[in-house]
Amino acid sequence: MSQLTSLPPVAQRTYVECKKCGCDRFHVVVAHTTATSAKVECEVCHAKKTLKVDSGKPKKAKTKVGVKRVQTKAISNRWDEVRSVLNETQKQPYNMKANFPLHTTIEHPKFGVGVVTAAALQSIEVVFEDGTRSLVHNRT
Ligand SMILES: [Zn+2]
Repeated sequence: MSQLTSLPPVAQRTYVECKKCGCDRFHVVVAHTTATSAKVECEVCHAKKTLKVDSGKPKKAKTKVGVKRVQTKAISNRWDEVRSVLNETQKQPYNMKANFPLHTTIEHPKFGVGVVTAAALQSIEVVFEDGTRSLVHNRT
């Protein structure tokens, strides 16, 4: 079977294999479904099938770029940085339902005192003395 490289126009007949008939038949192009595929109908048995063409473009290999945790980089440095904004007297107990804005000092029951260094809608990055952790907040 020769590989088509472009779609035949709608309403044009194209000679391709019909699985139902078990041989090559003229098919009428009913519609183009995508840039590289079309709905065609067998002229004999009226079975519909999808005709695909090779766009010629090499398929992009999706390379997964490993999402590396930032945790490993200079933990102690980050702690030193946040110590200037850490406010022990105004620390707030960590609670996933509460909202913690940037630079809030929080007290986590397990990790201890930390400072919010990044705040998204439902997650915060908190720097604790022993490392950076992602925690949830604003959960209802
Ligand atoms: Zn057929």
